[in-house]
Amino acid sequence: MDNNSHLATQCIHTGELANDAGMPHTPVYNSTTFAFDSTADLLDVVEGRCEGSLYTRYGFNPSIRSLESKLAALEKAEAALAFSSGMAAESAVFLSHGREGILCIGDAYGGTLELLEKQLPLLDIPTWFLLGTELDQLEHYLQQGVRLVFFETPSNPVLEIFDIADIARRVHAYGAILVIDNTFATPVNQQPLGLGADLVIHSATKYLGGHSDITAGALMGSAVLIEPVFQWRKNLGQTPSPEVASLLSRSLRTLVVRVQQQNANAMHIARALLSHHRIKRVLYPGLDNFPGHALASRQMNGFGGMLSIEIDGTREQTSAIVDRLKLFKIAPSLGGVESLVTQPVTTTHHGLDEEERKRRGISDAMIRLSVGLEDVHDLLADIEQAVS
Ligand SMILES: *Cc1c(COP(=O)(O)O)cnc(C)c1O
Repeated sequence: MDNNSHLATQCIHTGELANDAGMPHTPVYNSTTFAFDSTADLLDVVEGRCEGSLYTRYGFNPSIRSLESKLAALEKAEAALAFSSGMAAESAVFLSHGREGILCIGDAYGGTLELLEKQLPLLDIPTWFLLGTELDQLEHYLQQGVRLVFFETPSNPVLEIFDIADIARRVHAYGAILVIDNTFATPVNQQPLGLGADLVIHSATKYLGGHSDITAGALMGSAVLIEPVFQWRKNLGQTPSPEVASLLSRSLRTLVVRVQQQNANAMHIARALLSHHRIKRVLYPGLDNFPGHALASRQMNGFGGMLSIEIDGTREQTSAIVDRLKLFKIAPSLGGVESLVTQPVTTTHHGLDEEERKRRGISDAMIRLSVGLEDVHDLLADIEQAVS
């Protein structure tokens, strides 16, 4: 595969293995182990002299390797690893590279916050947290021994945009590494490695999978940074099954068209809701009046399929609106072909007290929409009937 091809081409062709049946894509190699002609041949793989198939938990399986070639191409990375979930990828990265101290900037996925706040400290791994408004303290934490800085941009659910290139420079000045969770943006809209980040994580359960039918994760970066994570993945047993790897490769072939249409649908809805009398605020990085718009325009190629709105009403009135939606299903996920909705105070940010939610700008009347691939007119009509 030509490495200079555009993303949509790479999504379809990179990593696909020739096979005896003439299938245009890699078959599912659903074997846990692989047989060799001789002990010498087996030792060549075990000792790393050649890249053969060996044992599926290691990821030494053609379906998994095929997927990983595609994943690396998506983020223009030297190397990639597939995982059994987004959290598997995150925990392996934190254990490999974050043991001396991790700093999380801004809001993060609930599971990430729990891992950082509750589990990693049990292993004496120090973790710190900074809000976007406190970024001037970054150097203070880097001086304290932080070796790994982590954030999501756009963040969940207020879609705060962080300057990847600027933060990467500041982090590198102290010899630390920058890890970005690129789940919300997708590689179609944002390529953090090109902006200076060291590792990129995806919950492939979301846009990369795109159909709400597989749980998987991905990690992309340099071979040197990926190698220790490979060892943790292998021995923690976090490799995806060949069936899931194959389904994810299938999904990735349509990633670009899916994300571009989701971008367009979200932009259409965001603009249309701006003037609605029951809606106080529309949070979408593509809107001119959005605080992070200029930065998002610089570092993103598209503004994504996620948007949040704030209702002019109480928490209960907001829940009632959510309940009246018909096309948007109430579910705590995102990135699939079907549109989903959550009220963050009842789901992703349920565990935070009122003061902490306020500090993070998450109102009780906020609704987070994951805009899918239904006809945008139907989606808009659904929101309008629910809000009115
Ligand atoms: C869902 C999600 C995760 C966790 O992914 P799983 O595949 O559920 O483990 C991590 N980060 C973000 C931004 C997510 O949306």
